[in-house]
Amino acid sequence: MLFDTHTHLDAPQFDEDREDMIERALQSGVSRMVNIGFNRETIPSTMKLAETYDFIYAAVGWHPVDAISMEEQDIDWIASFCAHEKVVAIGEIGLDYHWDTSPKDVQHQVFRRQIGLARELNMPIVIHNRDAHEDTVRILREEHASEVGGIMHSFSGSWETAKMCLDMGFHISFGGPITFKNAKQPKEVLAQVPLDRLLIETDAPYLTPHPYRGKRNETAYVRMVAEAAAEIRGLSLEELAQITTKNALERFGIS
Ligand SMILES: [Zn+2]
Repeated sequence: MLFDTHTHLDAPQFDEDREDMIERALQSGVSRMVNIGFNRETIPSTMKLAETYDFIYAAVGWHPVDAISMEEQDIDWIASFCAHEKVVAIGEIGLDYHWDTSPKDVQHQVFRRQIGLARELNMPIVIHNRDAHEDTVRILREEHASEVGGIMHSFSGSWETAKMCLDMGFHISFGGPITFKNAKQPKEVLAQVPLDRLLIETDAPYLTPHPYRGKRNETAYVRMVAEAAAEIRGLSLEELAQITTKNALERFGIS
């Protein structure tokens, strides 16, 4: 029983075989998944998936890469989905200094607004942080994100950064990169995260695990992430799957 806490099943990469891909996920032991809607196009398609499949849940938020296109009314639009029984988090939100598509100050503002919304609605947040560790932690702190907590998605920072996020009550989620031979840092961090804060994900169709690296990722491959995590923690696949699924159910408030 595996839980993919971060996937994009509505991505155009799956237009040809979406149903088969979802079936393959179920066949490989994935019992639940959270699909992430992150802008004007993917929030509606995420809601549609969550309403079609009882094992698919939704997170809704505004991605930092698209921060520049967020308009005043979009915050209310995002809020309007949050009362839906299948919406379990606000995200993915955060900072992305890798793609130079939105100015930093705009990203900061959009990030802060959504942390505020999450606190108002008492919902966990899913954090996207690319090459922005320091500012991400600082803003989470300044905006009192510890009141709601959430998930550091596809975590790529140092143990020091992880520790600061754990201290704010966050869970740490790992994906495909922990299966790469040369990925020393995420493996080191994974080895130290308290087991009750550990989550796994695919971020499909991106971040494909070994041995499919370079190809399209899909939710079934969360099994490879689980296998790699189990090996690093000295657990069986079943134990790792049970622990991370329990963590996800609790964190997302799914009964
Ligand atoms: Zn994502």
